[in-house]
Amino acid sequence: MGETPVAVVTGGNRGIGREVCRQLVNLDHDVVLTARDPARAAAVADQLGVDHHRLDVTDDGSVARLAGYLGERYGRVDVLVNNAAIHYDPWQHASSADLGVVREAMETNFYGPWRTVLALLPLLRSSRRARVVNVSSEAASLASMGGGTPAYGTSKAALNALTLMLASELRGILVNAVCPGWVATDMGGPGGRPVEHGAASVVWAATLPDGGPTGGFFRDGKRVPW
Ligand code: NDP
Repeated sequence: MGETPVAVVTGGNRGIGREVCRQLVNLDHDVVLTARDPARAAAVADQLGVDHHRLDVTDDGSVARLAGYLGERYGRVDVLVNNAAIHYDPWQHASSADLGVVREAMETNFYGPWRTVLALLPLLRSSRRARVVNVSSEAASLASMGGGTPAYGTSKAALNALTLMLASELRGILVNAVCPGWVATDMGGPGGRPVEHGAASVVWAATLPDGGPTGGFFRDGKRVPW
């Protein structure tokens, strides 16, 4: 590229998002770690030696302020990783769901990435090789969807649909959904694979070469069924 890629990661203060930030720094990106708690964003960014900014993906004003900062400081965004998510609910059921919880999941996991893409789109268009990674889950695969996980599953399935639409509409921007696999984080709990492996699945799509795939659903660089 000739210039250092600018990468923005949502929910970068812990879990997979933090590790994605760390790996992207090691791949010589200018990383902007974002988190809804500005103090935690600053603390983790200092540990990693990266830039940081507050971002609550459910808040229009917060997303607009991030876009303003990125525009002034960098003038473009080359990589957007929509990582932030909530409400993994494998023990709940669609037939007895609390729709308040479902709405909260939709607001963060689906509208959050959509809101962020819309706000950052002028900056992504200013990049000569922009990539958008929507961190999704095979729990949202319609090919294997059964009962359970109603809030999380529907919000990530909607995110997958958005991924296909954006990939189709945004010529020149590679937009993909990625499953990190089952990862040992606060969300995943113990027993999952190391966070380094889950993050690497995401970083693969964030660093695709020109001419790489768009509109796909991947885990560890391999296609998985929608
Ligand atoms: P964690 O629960 O460990 O971390 C979630 C991150 O999202 C935190 O940084 C959290 O911030 C942030 N976040 C939540 N709500 C908001 C918001 N409104 N605005 C900004 N940030 C927010 O999750 P993981 O690291 O495990 O998951 C990362 C991604 O990977 C998610 O998209 C998840 O769905 C996906 N995934 C994870 C799997 C796993 O096994 N772990 C499996 C499949 C997919 P805060 O600290 O403030 O709460």
